[in-house]
Amino acid sequence: MRLIMMGPPGAGKGTQAKFVAEHFGIPAISTGDIFRANVSEGTPLGVEAKRYMDAGQLVPDEVTINMVSDRLSEGDSADGFLLDGFPRTVPQAEWLGGVLHEKNHDLDAVLLLEAPDEVLMERMLARGRADDTTEAISRRLALYHSETTPLLEHYANVLVAINGVGPVEEVQQRALAALNSKLGSSDTSEGDPEQSASA
Ligand code: AMP
Repeated sequence: MRLIMMGPPGAGKGTQAKFVAEHFGIPAISTGDIFRANVSEGTPLGVEAKRYMDAGQLVPDEVTINMVSDRLSEGDSADGFLLDGFPRTVPQAEWLGGVLHEKNHDLDAVLLLEAPDEVLMERMLARGRADDTTEAISRRLALYHSETTPLLEHYANVLVAINGVGPVEEVQQRALAALNSKLGSSDTSEGDPEQSASA
C-alpha cells in the first residue's frame, strides 16, 4: 500500500496520517516531522531547514528529496508507506514518480484533506508552533496554492478528497471510507495505462 496525504498547512494531515498509516500497517513518513527532529537535534540539515521553516518557506527541493531518499532506503518502507507532506512541488512529484517507476510500484491513492483558508489560519494560530506566526502562515498558505495544488491534477487518477473540517474522529472515518472506496474501485483498473502514468 503506497499512499500520499496531501492538503494545506493546518488541515490536520499529521493526525490523519498517523491514524491511516496505523490502520493499514505502514510507516507514516512526515517530512515536516523529520525536519523538526533535525532542528531539535541541531544537525546540519536542521540548521539549514530551520531558516526556511521559520519563514514559512519550502525547504529547497534538492535538500528535501535527498532526505526522503535516505528515509525511503530504510527497510521499513519496502512494502508500503504513507507520505505526509511530500511531495509538495512538481519537481518532488516527478522525482517520486521516477523512484516508483524504477521499482515498478504504483501509488494506490492520494488522500486530499480540504479546508477553507480561514479555518486553517484559525487552527494554526491556536496551535502556536514555532513557525505558526501570522506572516509565516500566510506565506505557507500562498505557497500551498501556488506550488502544491498543481499536483492535484498530476494525481487526478488516484486522488480522493475529503472534508477536513470537523471532529478528528469524524474526519478519520471519512478518510477510511474514502480510501476504502478508492482502493476497492482501483482493483478493477489494474493494468490501466493511465493509472501507472500518474504514479
Ligand atoms: P509540515 O509539518 O508538513 O507543515 O512542514 C513544516 C515545514 O517543513 C514546512 O513549512 C516547510 O518549511 C518544511 N517542509 C515540510 N515538507 C516539505 C516539503 N515536501 N518540501 C519543502 N519543505 C517542506
